[in-house]
Amino acid sequence: MTRLAPIGFLLALALPAPAAAYSIASGFSEPCHEVMTAEAFDEVVLSLPTAQIVVPRGSGWRRVGRFVLETVGVDPTGLSEVEFFVLTSLLVGVRSPDTEGHAILNLESARTIHTNPDAAEQYAHGLRGLEDDGVEGDAAAVQGTRARILEEVAEADAAVRLPAEEQLFRTQLYFDFYGLIDLDVWSVAFHLGRAAHALQDSFSHTIRDEHDEFRSVLTVFNFVEAVSGTLRESRDGLPHSDAMDRCSEETAELRAAATRATGELFLAAREVFLGRDAQAVESILDAWLRYRAGCSVADEFCDNGRWLTLARRDPSEPFICAAVAAAPPGWLASQLGWVALVVMHLGWRRRAAP
Ligand SMILES: [Zn+2]
Repeated sequence: MTRLAPIGFLLALALPAPAAAYSIASGFSEPCHEVMTAEAFDEVVLSLPTAQIVVPRGSGWRRVGRFVLETVGVDPTGLSEVEFFVLTSLLVGVRSPDTEGHAILNLESARTIHTNPDAAEQYAHGLRGLEDDGVEGDAAAVQGTRARILEEVAEADAAVRLPAEEQLFRTQLYFDFYGLIDLDVWSVAFHLGRAAHALQDSFSHTIRDEHDEFRSVLTVFNFVEAVSGTLRESRDGLPHSDAMDRCSEETAELRAAATRATGELFLAAREVFLGRDAQAVESILDAWLRYRAGCSVADEFCDNGRWLTLARRDPSEPFICAAVAAAPPGWLASQLGWVALVVMHLGWRRRAAP
């Protein structure tokens, strides 16, 4: 029993299933990333050099922290001040790749972030880059996601070596009805949260092998070309699936594996920070984020038909179709503008490719 057992207890009370998920908290989605990360939090607090942390003065981060912790059913009064600050920083970090300071409910900004044609932006969500075609594209996307995680751990490692006061980092978080709020976070936990986001997304944005505890990635989904309307499955892979992103009963096993991988990532980061094993995070990625070639749609990805069926449900499609169905004219006009930009960009890239 760890000293943070109340968190697990509270989560068990507050959450219907082994918590974890792939969307972030807002009026529309469940706090999936936050819940998986909070479950792995014991590993963070028990393993990181938190004794030197300088907790910022003022009540700003505490108000934000109470709100963010509420989304995962954690009562901050059960935590020490340092634990409260570390968990707040971690959860703000795990949210950040999906919002980057913008409103979750602002569909235009959220979709613009996700359709950024820069491959590194796709790897931040465990997705294929625009040029990641065929089987080589699967391997490249996994490699790119690993690199993205290693970059975030390297940022955390650099921060942990700074004097305590310099380990704070000013970021912004968006709240509907309030707008952007500045807050200081502990940059070590913030970057670990961003690394955890990419790792967790690599479970919902791929088909993995259920016969090896979901450790091997068999194919990687494609979001950017699915929503631009240029996706050809034989070349670009399966489209991103909203069904795989949901915190549903159907994805519970996958989320349990992602939560376990997240905890192991945090423990490995400690080994890096303490200088005990510089390769510890690579070892975790070898265990949890490795590509295995040889499976395809034809053999239902080596007998993983259950996941192929789920992935085929609610595939992402060009926004323009959904927009025409129900959007008000002003919103539609703004969507049309940026969709046109993305499509033009993709068309140009495709023509330029050999
Ligand atoms: Zn994401």
